[in-house]
Amino acid sequence: MQPADVERNRLLAEMAEQSTDMISRHAPDDWRFIDASPAVTHLLGYRVDEIVGMSAYELYHPDDVEDFKRRSPSVSYERGLYTHTYRFRCKDGHYTWLESTSRSIRDPVTDELKEILVVSRDVSQRINAEQANRRLASVLEHSSDLVAFVTPDHRVSQLNEAARKALGLDVSGHEPLLLNRLFTADSYALLQQQALPEAYERGSWHGEAEMCDRLNQRVIPVMLEVLAHRTLDNQLEYFSTVARDMTAIKQAEAKQLQYQQEIDHAARLITMGEMATGLAHEINQPLTAVVNYVRGIQRRLATDRDAALNDIDQPLARIGDTALRAGEIVRRMMDFTRKSQPKRELLSLNTLVNDLIGFCVSAAKRHNVVIENRLPDNIAEVYADRIQLEQILLNLLLNGIEACHREEDQTPLKVWLEASMDKSGQVIISVLDQGPGLPSDSERLFEQFFTTKPKGLGMGLAISRTLIERHGGQLLAENRVSGGAKFSFMLPTAV
Ligand code: ADP
Repeated sequence: MQPADVERNRLLAEMAEQSTDMISRHAPDDWRFIDASPAVTHLLGYRVDEIVGMSAYELYHPDDVEDFKRRSPSVSYERGLYTHTYRFRCKDGHYTWLESTSRSIRDPVTDELKEILVVSRDVSQRINAEQANRRLASVLEHSSDLVAFVTPDHRVSQLNEAARKALGLDVSGHEPLLLNRLFTADSYALLQQQALPEAYERGSWHGEAEMCDRLNQRVIPVMLEVLAHRTLDNQLEYFSTVARDMTAIKQAEAKQLQYQQEIDHAARLITMGEMATGLAHEINQPLTAVVNYVRGIQRRLATDRDAALNDIDQPLARIGDTALRAGEIVRRMMDFTRKSQPKRELLSLNTLVNDLIGFCVSAAKRHNVVIENRLPDNIAEVYADRIQLEQILLNLLLNGIEACHREEDQTPLKVWLEASMDKSGQVIISVLDQGPGLPSDSERLFEQFFTTKPKGLGMGLAISRTLIERHGGQLLAENRVSGGAKFSFMLPTAV
């Protein structure tokens, strides 16, 4: 051997010794280790002298042995060079992923297969990362959210299955699919003007948008998350959009809203009958007053044709005011029966309660009951929907009035309202009465259609409770110690 060759072999041997890759020699029949570089200890935990003589087949993962046996003759023996990735058992029993390149060494003269030279490296990290990526990709692909990957120039490079189905699209076509195909014009404008720039600046954007299935001309309301992905050197690489289909939720919300509005409407109609009596009384008063004023003027004019304008000016003004008051009462009745969205505002409880007591005067008379407003003058304003609050109090007042029914010759019983502030700054409103108290199965009071009255509907308390809960409160019923019932609920005072 030439000195240069000797030196080269020495260097090669040294490289093999130093290499973190394991270099090993194997017998072709059973893949016995003939020799291995020291890296075997780092990679597999064996000393060189321990592994020499062991067959590599013994150390393959059982799932990989068959595959290897099937493929190795054709590849390693015929083509001479073969790279494969497989699991190998370490000395402590755990399996590590190796990637090996095998090379067959043949006798230059007889071409007989002498041995196999293998260079192996640990690729566990890469394989684990690949597996994790595959798992993530599979989760994304099967997620019920609509996921899209979009290049900075708005080309859609990938859509998951849910997105393909919901949007009726395919990215495998030759035509480039652009982001504006996925969204309605308004939402695409929102993406351009707000969502993408914000995701670019801050990493992500979250908000509502509308996607569209152009095939079926269907708009899909979604909660959208836009993420910006950057390269290692911080350049924008692509955006991803993750959209949750809100169709079912929006439909349920709309249905619920419609249902609640219908309940409100029905509730108002139910109490209309009672109210009509009260209103008749309310309207009768101004009408009688108007008639009296007109008659007064007629009389004045009959006796003195030249009656001075001053004499009839005041009664005329009163006629105007009184007619306006009657008009106001009618308007309130219309408000009360109209279907409308709940509208909260700050309300003076005293004014509202006095108005309601006015409505109930005729019912109170019929039942021989006295109603009293015992609210403190300075009670804080409450934040509530006026019509709904009137509805609740009217139900409670009428129930109290009916419970306190007395014949004409009997001493009347009382129904009254109280209010106080609780520690949390809310107002507690109560309607109390001197009636017989709650029925024995009082746990059923708030059930729909529960009634103990011959002509009762059993809707009043159920509806009142719903309306109070909608204001964030709770309706409670209890018996008073000195007899009679007490219904209370809380209302917030601040906006
Ligand atoms: P309705 O008045 O049509 O019966 P509600 O839902 O308003 O329907 O009331 C349900 C039931 O609750 C009444 O039938 C009655 O038995 C009981 N109730 C309600 N308010 C009172 C009260 N103030 N005192 C005693 N019982 C009451």
